[in-house]
Amino acid sequence: MITVVGSGFGAFGIVKKLVDKSIRVRLITSTASKQINDVGIPLNMPSVQTSGLGGTSKIWGGGFAPFEKDDFNNWPIDYDDLLPYYKEVSSFFNFDFLKFKTKNHNENIKSQIDHIKFDKLKFLNKWFLIPLPIIRLKDYYDKWEKEGKIEIVYDEITKINFSDKTALSSKKSYSYSKIVIATGCLNSSYILHNSGIKNYNLGRFLSDHPKLYFASLTLKNHMPKNSIYAFMKYEDDQGVQVKTGLILNNPKIYGNHNIYLKPLFRDIETTKKIETLGTLIYTLQKDILKPNNLIHLLMNFKTLVQGAIYKFNLFQKYSQVGLFGILENKPFAESKLDLSTPSTVDYNISENEITDYLNYFKDVSNSFGDSCKLLVDSKEKFLNNVSSAAHFTGTTRMGLTEDDGVVDENLKIFNLDDIYVCDGGVFPSNGNANISMSILAMSFRLGELLAKKQLI
Ligand SMILES: Cc1cc2nc3c(=O)[nH]c(=O)nc-3n(C[C@H](O)[C@H](O)[C@H](O)COP(=O)(O)OP(=O)(O)OC[C@H]3O[C@@H](n4cnc5c(N)ncnc54)[C@H](O)[C@@H]3O)c2cc1C
Repeated sequence: MITVVGSGFGAFGIVKKLVDKSIRVRLITSTASKQINDVGIPLNMPSVQTSGLGGTSKIWGGGFAPFEKDDFNNWPIDYDDLLPYYKEVSSFFNFDFLKFKTKNHNENIKSQIDHIKFDKLKFLNKWFLIPLPIIRLKDYYDKWEKEGKIEIVYDEITKINFSDKTALSSKKSYSYSKIVIATGCLNSSYILHNSGIKNYNLGRFLSDHPKLYFASLTLKNHMPKNSIYAFMKYEDDQGVQVKTGLILNNPKIYGNHNIYLKPLFRDIETTKKIETLGTLIYTLQKDILKPNNLIHLLMNFKTLVQGAIYKFNLFQKYSQVGLFGILENKPFAESKLDLSTPSTVDYNISENEITDYLNYFKDVSNSFGDSCKLLVDSKEKFLNNVSSAAHFTGTTRMGLTEDDGVVDENLKIFNLDDIYVCDGGVFPSNGNANISMSILAMSFRLGELLAKKQLI
């Protein structure tokens, strides 16, 4: 029996491929929520990881985008290796990502962005697709369990015993023929460390997509209602919601960063308050009705009302735009998990990278002319404003040898048989898109490999 630990995107493709081939799978997934102890740059997000069936897909925003070709620089695999699996993910969830990669949508949205003057040749559009209704993996797992195709066990694995091929929790031991650790970038390293794996890269190179407002722009005229750059979306004919970001036409100088142009409710500080409350409501879901959370909402009643006006675009005429960057984060060995203490995250960004970000903010602001005001022009302001996108990668990175990675190009741990890792942690770098579509593609790829091995 193949055992998969964890039930987020990293696990999903594997389970799906094995179910397709009628190979028995045992899925072990924890239920207890974990508090993170931040000792580096604070992640500043109400909930950065969730437990239970479906993992972070229970609260995610639903946005899919593939990586670009150059995001795979210094990876042991390249874009073409993942392309068949990007296609498979796309067709499984009924959306057509290639349509948005190849079709020139600039013309389609031209009328909607004409009111914003900027150096349009300097940027390309980047499309983020949200298949509707939003994808929650739990529904698929529940169905497979009901059909008797998988066995789901709710338990927390703490350690693997490689010699007798067992996975251990505090209560039980589970034997396996092959095992995949898919417990998420902030968890897998702890299990491997407890299991005695010694590898310099383990728990290091923790990357995220730092995000922040770095400039504001005053428009001469009000924005047209539902302008794509105002609320960054339109409904596609296929039941896909599309959000648009801007990426540099030539990203080589600074990196593959994304910018969203967001309308401001009064000013950046008020807009940020609304967004923070919105994320909290979104991530807590039903727990929002617990007394403490309700009290928190009531104490922020004004922001709640402002948020409703903002979300539904009521009564407002927007003429202030915030430039919101979601930034690629270069691998940095000193950004790490503290493996001596569970759930201790020491997230860091190198000095050089912060300098690069500041240059990028200045350059982009200049492209929007005199009515654009640069807001983040020092390291201090950067650190005061930055927060997490909860796109964690790097802690069990893929490498060519064990000197530069924890797992090989097939996601197998170096020098060990029958044990694999599959979650955001295996990415050697984190590219310019949110990561779930790439985690899924990787998971479909590993699932195919495991199914083949099992059937030989
Ligand atoms: C609010 C929010 C919005 C987001 N929006 C987007 C978005 O729009 N687009 C996007 O691409 N990404 C988004 N992300 C990021 C994305 O959700 C994650 O990158 C992705 O879900 C990670 O998948 P994973 O499989 O690596 O880990 P997870 O989904 O975190 O799965 C880990 C699994 O392992 C289990 N587990 C953990 N420890 C153990 C253990 N010891 N034993 C057994 N089981 C264990 C957990 O229960 C869980 O099932 C968002 C994240 C957040 C928090």
